[in-house]
Amino acid sequence: YSAKRAGGGWAIYDAEVHGDGEHALRTAEDLRRAISQGELVLHYQPQITVADGELAGVEALVRWQHPGLGLLLPGRFLPVAEDHGLIGQVTWTVLQGAVRQSAEWRRAGLDLRVSVNVSATDLLDPDLPRALGALLLQHRVPPARLVLEVTETTLVRDQDRASQVLAELADLGVATSIDDFGTGWSSLAQLHRMRFSELKLDRSFTRDLLTHERAAAITASTVDLAHALGLRVVAEGVEDAETLARLASLGCDESQGYWHAVPMPADALVEWAAHHREEALPRGW
Ligand code: C2E
Ligand code: MG
Ligand code: MG
Ligand code: MG
Repeated sequence: YSAKRAGGGWAIYDAEVHGDGEHALRTAEDLRRAISQGELVLHYQPQITVADGELAGVEALVRWQHPGLGLLLPGRFLPVAEDHGLIGQVTWTVLQGAVRQSAEWRRAGLDLRVSVNVSATDLLDPDLPRALGALLLQHRVPPARLVLEVTETTLVRDQDRASQVLAELADLGVATSIDDFGTGWSSLAQLHRMRFSELKLDRSFTRDLLTHERAAAITASTVDLAHALGLRVVAEGVEDAETLARLASLGCDESQGYWHAVPMPADALVEWAAHHREEALPRGW
């Protein structure tokens, strides 16, 4: 057991699913097979403009359609992927799926911004910008319609290399987002050093917005800071109308959460988008 596995998500993962290291190893083999056989699937969660309720984009979230265990959430298998050198393959599978899906939606007249989560290890791969550029070109998806979400903890690990890869991705025209903002210790330094295009306010602030004045104060300041730097602000984990209203009064740009929609398969998203557009039209149309 590595130190990493002694705490946090790993310990939970092991206790719940595995119970022993050997089982984790089998899961790694299982995951390797799953990747090649297409068992990783993407669900998409809408991101809604706060001002007018439009569908602005979606976040792609990976799931493992496991033959025996059903649909597994990323918390159940991404730590295994990280520890067994499979995260790069997972990311590439997700990027391919998301870009292909984006192209398909575009052909059907649905021009959605698509966000993909990338991990620390991915940003240490100097080949990522070139490969991603080729993928976007192949599917004729404008780079700016793809957003790469990076968490703060990702960024602190090897700042120089990660910054270099991020800068090359930015040169490519791909948008970048600082995910779970406010949960790391280096938020301001990251904003100072890197040119992100979006900031995702962590769910812990959104959740406490109505009940904790301190969370509201942090949110208000974060929105102002982000706007001063030219970043779009997306709030995560919005679960009720009151929170959405408060986010609107604070000037937050976009909202994502169960209040709007849960993550869903691509075809369900298309139906959701059509229904959402109809609902947004004034009565009598
Ligand atoms: P994240 O990027 O912060 O994604 C948001 C998570 O919050 C998702 O969980 C989403 O289902 C959940 N969520 C959305 N709205 C609400 C809400 O209103 N309330 C609550 N309680 N939760 C909400 P999910 O899909 O389990 O993903 C967890 C994390 O796994 C993600 O957090 C992201 O860090 C990581 N992840 C997901 N997909 C990928 C991927 O393709 N690659 C990588 N490297 N990481 C991924
Ligand atoms: Mg994310
Ligand atoms: Mg997030
Ligand atoms: Mg989060």
